[in-house]
Amino acid sequence: MFDTLTDSFTAAIKKIRFHDDDKALTKALDELKKSLLKADVNHKVVKELIAEVQIETKKNGIGKDQFLDALRAALYKLLEIGGNKGFTFVPNPPTVILMTGLQGSGKTTTTGKLANYLKNKQKKVLIVAADLQRLAAVEQLRQITTQIGVELYENEATKNPVEVVAAALKKANDGIYDVVLIDTAGRLAIDDELMNELEAVKKAANPSEIFYVADSMTGQDAVKTATSFKEKIGIDGVILSKYDGDSKGGVALGLASQVLVPLRFIGSGEKMEDLEVFLPDRIVNRLMG
Ligand code: GDP
Repeated sequence: MFDTLTDSFTAAIKKIRFHDDDKALTKALDELKKSLLKADVNHKVVKELIAEVQIETKKNGIGKDQFLDALRAALYKLLEIGGNKGFTFVPNPPTVILMTGLQGSGKTTTTGKLANYLKNKQKKVLIVAADLQRLAAVEQLRQITTQIGVELYENEATKNPVEVVAAALKKANDGIYDVVLIDTAGRLAIDDELMNELEAVKKAANPSEIFYVADSMTGQDAVKTATSFKEKIGIDGVILSKYDGDSKGGVALGLASQVLVPLRFIGSGEKMEDLEVFLPDRIVNRLMG
């Protein structure tokens, strides 16, 4: 989809051949509208974006450069929500982050990547294994934490994530950790059981922020589930995982325009180093080819 979107942008730009050609601009805007709608960007947002690109292009005398500049600025505005800001630390450590997402979204891997990112910033991190639904999740975290040299809190004696979280935070509250990352359970789809568990874990953790890990490859589904998580438990940031896959440009625009929660990081591979702060201009550059 990333390529498709880039291709459609290029196709739209190509439609503008001459300066001050109103008809050509209308055609280019039509092309742009179609490609954005295909990429799951909200209708209302597309309408506003098209209107803005039209006004800005005309303001400076219709031409390829003017159209490109206007489109670039409009896309940037769409992706830039609340400053996007990567990671934010609370004044009194530890900063507690609840990592949420559907099973298979890349939540556990992303928890490791985020810990690695923070460790490289000389922060002391504790990961809490509170995904007690997926049997392999705790073992996966053991391997990840050993690999990156970050401490793991786990408790095999209980199947209750609330107990695990409460005990982990008791341990963390002596102030030695800068950040506590809590890996919570996911499901294949959203259900009441999952949301009730997350609600209970949230209450026990009293997190500084809740991050939602969205699988870029799932397109409009990622937008839908992120919206549900936002409505049901509240989310403060989205991390887009698997951005190295096929379907990517559109999902960032879709999430930004429909979920209206800042995109904070993007995951671009399976390795622990494959995480970067979400920077709107970088995405715009990639989208515009
Ligand atoms: P969880 O069930 O949400 O905890 O998912 P996992 O963390 O186990 O990830 C599911 C699969 O996605 C694993 O094979 C990961 O290696 C893979 N994965 C996670 N993040 C990325 C990413 O950014 N890029 C790619 N290509 N694969 C990823």
